[in-house]
Amino acid sequence: MVGLRLCLDPGHGGSDPGCVAPGFVESEWVLDVTLRTASFLLGKDTAWKDRLTFTRLTGERGPGLYDRARCAHRYGARLTVAVHCNSTADEREHGPLVFYQGGSMTGMPIANTIALALASRGGEYVDGDKVRPMLRHSLAAKPSPHWSGRAYNVMEPHGARCCVVVEPGYASNAWERAWLLSEDGRDQVAAAIAAGVLSTA
Ligand SMILES: [Zn+2]
Repeated sequence: MVGLRLCLDPGHGGSDPGCVAPGFVESEWVLDVTLRTASFLLGKDTAWKDRLTFTRLTGERGPGLYDRARCAHRYGARLTVAVHCNSTADEREHGPLVFYQGGSMTGMPIANTIALALASRGGEYVDGDKVRPMLRHSLAAKPSPHWSGRAYNVMEPHGARCCVVVEPGYASNAWERAWLLSEDGRDQVAAAIAAGVLSTA
């Protein structure tokens, strides 16, 4: 995608904090990681400043899904990356998930590049009194089963545009949350998203 125009979409914001865990507020975290992603891209090529927009740049506003899609459309974005963070009742659950729209030939390779970059951090995590290797179950990106009827669908009319949703880890897992909150973790997530973008640009 030569001259690709990109929309970065940090999830939640305004009155919607997203998932909350000790020391972690999803809406704040995704905004930080989104800005780091933009810095990575601008560090590679300053031309990104004319090819990049955001659905929000502060914590004050949390646009709805349709507003986010409209923002991407107005900008003529060929790719939108929505940044979120996972959370679930099972505190052991961890690992990245990256979604693309089912059937999207454009989204799948971008999502896979991001998922592989996130999963390749490897390492170990402490689970109670055990040290376990990082799970590898989420190496591959997944077509989202949840998108029918959701506003992100409008981003891919006729396959001309593309949207992926990145969930780099679980804030509900104390070990993974510490990594997500660390400077290294934030930079690794941003670098992984940038790698996915650059794989198409
Ligand atoms: Zn979210």
